[in-house]
Amino acid sequence: MERLQKVIAKSGVASRRKAEEMIEKGLVTVNGETITSMGVKVSEKDIIEVEGVPLTKEEKVYILYYKPVGEISSVGDDRDRRSVTDTFEMFEERIYPVGRLDYDTSGVLLMTNDGDFTQMMTHPKYEITKTYRVKVDGILKREQQRQFMRGIKLEDGMTAPCKIKVIRDKNDRNMILDVTLHEGRNRQVRRMFEYFDLKVVKLTRTHFDFLTLDGLSEGEYRFIKPHEVKKLI
Ligand code: URA
Repeated sequence: MERLQKVIAKSGVASRRKAEEMIEKGLVTVNGETITSMGVKVSEKDIIEVEGVPLTKEEKVYILYYKPVGEISSVGDDRDRRSVTDTFEMFEERIYPVGRLDYDTSGVLLMTNDGDFTQMMTHPKYEITKTYRVKVDGILKREQQRQFMRGIKLEDGMTAPCKIKVIRDKNDRNMILDVTLHEGRNRQVRRMFEYFDLKVVKLTRTHFDFLTLDGLSEGEYRFIKPHEVKKLI
């Protein structure tokens, strides 16, 4: 059961505040009965009408976006920087990122209007694995790699064990590695390297679970197919 104004807002008809105004004005009925008080809760089975028009649930949209460097993952900031939501402005649905990638990070970012899906994909309990291709200024030594895999003590606690694969270490100035982890703490990968005084110079999320960047260039997106959504949840 959910509050009536929340259900109206989720359907995309109006903001929650507007929905409350509509209820107060007597424009909303539930199963034919006009509702004017705020505390009413409704279920999936209830028939809700706003100004005589039945509420249709906003269609759920699932997108795989190849986030480029230079976009923030929140909706807007005080520096007026471009946001990942700007690319989806022409959509009728209100689409938000699933979790965050740093301004300087590129790669797989899921976008959706499905709040339950977002919660699931970002909840630590589900342990979704994410792989990052990391270019680092300097060398992560063998013993440090082992420490990385066992867990590192950051300010916000020990990191869970992760996987590391060295992709390139031909010179002694920089290194390319794939790091796979299932946590999603703020700036986690960068902070793990900083622990060893190493600076990440390029960071790209190449995998979100089984989803990859295949077929996409930076700034492009594709719809995630229904069977792929099913596989994720
Ligand atoms: N780890 C980071 O440090 N940055 C990201 O954007 C994602 C993971």
